[in-house]
Amino acid sequence: MNNTELETLIRAIVTQKLSGNEAPSPACNGVFPDVGSAVQAAHQAFLRYQQSPLKTRSAIIRALRSELGPQLQHFSDAGATETGMGNAADKYLKNKAALENTPGVEDLTTTALTGDGGMVLFEYSPFGVIGAITPSTNPTETIINNSISMLAAGNSIYFSPHPGAKEVSLELISLIESVAFKCSGIRNLVVTVAEPTFEATQQMMRHENIALLAITGGPAIVSMGMKSGKKVIGAGAGNPPCLVDETADIVKAAQDIVSGAAFDYNLPCIAEKSVIVVDCVADRLVQQMQAFDALLVTPEQAEKLKHVCLVPDGGANKQLVGKSAAALLTAAGIPVPGKAPRLLLAEVAADDPLVTTEQLMPLLPVVRVPDFDAGLQLALKVEHGLHHTAIMHSENVSRLNLAARLLQTSIFVKNGPSYAGIGVGGEGFTTFTIATPTGEGTTSARTFARSRRCVLTNGFSIR
Ligand code: NAD
Repeated sequence: MNNTELETLIRAIVTQKLSGNEAPSPACNGVFPDVGSAVQAAHQAFLRYQQSPLKTRSAIIRALRSELGPQLQHFSDAGATETGMGNAADKYLKNKAALENTPGVEDLTTTALTGDGGMVLFEYSPFGVIGAITPSTNPTETIINNSISMLAAGNSIYFSPHPGAKEVSLELISLIESVAFKCSGIRNLVVTVAEPTFEATQQMMRHENIALLAITGGPAIVSMGMKSGKKVIGAGAGNPPCLVDETADIVKAAQDIVSGAAFDYNLPCIAEKSVIVVDCVADRLVQQMQAFDALLVTPEQAEKLKHVCLVPDGGANKQLVGKSAAALLTAAGIPVPGKAPRLLLAEVAADDPLVTTEQLMPLLPVVRVPDFDAGLQLALKVEHGLHHTAIMHSENVSRLNLAARLLQTSIFVKNGPSYAGIGVGGEGFTTFTIATPTGEGTTSARTFARSRRCVLTNGFSIR
């Protein structure tokens, strides 16, 4: 069979596969009544997308950046209102970073080996339909970020949004689907179901046409996915400690910590969840943080806050997750000062549940330690081996290196606010899926692609 005949045969097979198994129609763009028809439609879309040139993928990403841009304020407002968590102003910054700073097709770099035996190409190629499970804490940010990364890598996507962020997620998924259709002529590259329940998510995880699971959420859903038998990119919980030693620029450290820990009311999984400070600079740090609008509560007030913010088994009280500092004070029966604080500070002992629990609230525990070594030991303990994020303020390079090496976190921010670690006010690309238990770290298009090896024997080396 010559090359032309082979090509004709392949085209015939692909056409037959596509026309013999037409995708069902959704209720509206990309939103289906049930999981089976949604996954089937995304699978059909993938088969067509696989035949499209790279320029189609680039056109989709470009169009998403321009068409979603004017809608970001709306999605930020809607996300904050529907979930009742975080605030629209910070959500806007997160959505903007996701839209503008998530890499596209250029992330899929090719490497080649050549020699007397010929040539080997290593290329990133798509998985198929990705089942992307998204959290309530960054609902639209994660959908925008995952859509750009996964579509750039040549996949189609079934989104499982959190039921608590259903309306805003479905609206955004529909919009992304229609933009992708306009650029590619392919329907259903991005799909979901009208009722994204936990049952629907579990059904999706078992579906034979889901090639890969990308799970952004808490420990329960990540471990559920890991039992599915499918390949999982798991972006789980964190509890980022922030270590401050006596060599740090204390004014900058104070400003960065308040900005990072107060950002979107401490909802980001990367946000500072505790401060561990060397005793000799602790007073100055706490004083400076107050100058940047943090409120230091008394030990009695800290007990009242703990009583309402944590539940008896030690977890966070979901009713107060992502609420403002003023809302936390009110819930604890503590009067809110005239100028509402951005963040609450509570000086506590090293083993306090506020330190060991991922609260996702603007209530930052501060622990004094005698020296850097003790601080690093405590940071290791409170990070719980999650390998997620840690922050450190110090001018001592050896200590910064030692902490980064021992903590082994996917993100380690030196002398900056935590959000610098996801490309907000710091170098580097943005991601809202930081794959911790499965080890991929800060994800981008290449994370959602398989590395494949293509070999040509004899020749193609011009060295
Ligand atoms: P969550 O675990 O409650 O929900 C996450 C997703 O899992 C949602 O889509 C939800 O519908 C689904 N889910 C949860 N329980 C399920 C079940 N029993 N059956 C089927 N589906 C289920 O998390 P959340 O409160 O929305 O988000 C906060 C958590 O996510 C925090 O722990 C945070 O650290 C983590 N997070 C991690 C990253 C990261 O990149 N590593 C990013 C954002 C959030």
